[in-house]
Amino acid sequence: MKQKRFILQENELPTAWYNIQADMPNKPLPPIHPATRQPLGVDDLAHIFPRECCVQELDTEHDFIPIPGEVLEKYSFYRSTPLVRAYALEEALQTPAHIYFKNESVNPLGSHKINSALAQCYYAKQEGTTNVTTETGAGQWGAALAYAARVFGLEAAVYQVKISMQQKPYRSSIMRTFGAAVTGSPSMSTRAGKDIITRDPHHPGSLGTAISEAVELATTTPNCKYTLGSVLNHVGLHQTIIGLEAEKQMAMAGEYPDVVIACFGGGSNFGGLAFPFMRHNLKDGKHTEFIAAEPDSCPKLTRGQFRYDFGDEAGYTPLLPMFTLGHTFKPANIHAGGLRYHGAGMIISQLLKDGLMRGVDIPQLESFDAGMLFARTEGIIPAPESSHAIAATIREAEKCKQTGEQKVILFNLSGHGLIDMSAYDQYLNGDLVNHRVSDDDILQTLGRVPE
Ligand SMILES: *Cc1c(COP(=O)(O)O)cnc(C)c1O
Repeated sequence: MKQKRFILQENELPTAWYNIQADMPNKPLPPIHPATRQPLGVDDLAHIFPRECCVQELDTEHDFIPIPGEVLEKYSFYRSTPLVRAYALEEALQTPAHIYFKNESVNPLGSHKINSALAQCYYAKQEGTTNVTTETGAGQWGAALAYAARVFGLEAAVYQVKISMQQKPYRSSIMRTFGAAVTGSPSMSTRAGKDIITRDPHHPGSLGTAISEAVELATTTPNCKYTLGSVLNHVGLHQTIIGLEAEKQMAMAGEYPDVVIACFGGGSNFGGLAFPFMRHNLKDGKHTEFIAAEPDSCPKLTRGQFRYDFGDEAGYTPLLPMFTLGHTFKPANIHAGGLRYHGAGMIISQLLKDGLMRGVDIPQLESFDAGMLFARTEGIIPAPESSHAIAATIREAEKCKQTGEQKVILFNLSGHGLIDMSAYDQYLNGDLVNHRVSDDDILQTLGRVPE
């Protein structure tokens, strides 16, 4: 029988994360203060984030960073995640390509986000913090953070985008089950929220409003730290556990990927899978291709500009060097909520600029076509975000069919879609549409990026 799933034993699990900053030919540019335009150091960031996360954020020296024992122990609850050969998908596509996926959907929270939530809560706890706060859109990050906070005995306060809270009530229920206090944003509980509601009583909320409220809570509450689910370097660092495991599992399968693919919101699951393999391109002369799959309604990698821009809509964060559509860009309300972010992380942006990876943009309907085929062949209903990676994988597999090349393709299944079934219903009913964004819209919001 052909082996389909590859799993590591507990004593084979990676014990350090991989910090690609140490090996990058051009280091990422530093985040800068919007008023002084000076680069920010650990002390500037540490009043918002756990200090150790700030150290990791700016570390361009150490290539491997040990995973604390307590985090390893929590990882062992659900890791390794399986590496799976998608024989049924290959057969349906009639492709000579070998397709593998890393299944990050098989943990209590259903997505990769838990890998960083556990690390961030551990460091917060170590520093004597009692409370953590964050924002969440569709709720995957909020759910992961709520669980991780519970695991380390912290109180969690999550600001969830008000409209998402109404559209996806189950994720609020999950967060509250783990003990988090969930507030729809904008709310009357913060200065920022009150200001927004005063201006616009029916504001539906956005990640921008929720970030502003969470940051305000963290900076005005003693012993409270802010946490983030993507974009920042330390989040991508924690996610490299995915690729480090996959590296060992691909070796068990006797193969090495020619192409590595993941969907792209802020870059954490892409970087998590890709960086450990990119290390071998940078150091050992490998020639793997890296493809980040973004929605064509939010195409910062393929149509954005490399600029210093704010991380949030309101302009409260430091200026970050990123491929961006402009911080005021309002992505269409596609079902892949986790991919609706205007910018790319700093490391990814530099790698893209240096030609070490590329982006592809996927229309919403193509992503659902791909998700359906995957569900009907492999038996797993993918998150709408992950379906973008599947669509990009299918494109590559079809190219192989034309050329006859037997490439090895590895993609990340970042999460399952079992709480997104209303989106699948809409697709099955024929009610979903594409939302390709116009050049004019992009030019307009890029015009509002600070000079
Ligand atoms: C949040 C999320 C994403 C996008 O975030 P990245 O930081 O780009 O990985 C992708 N897939 C799932 C399932 C998510 O929850």
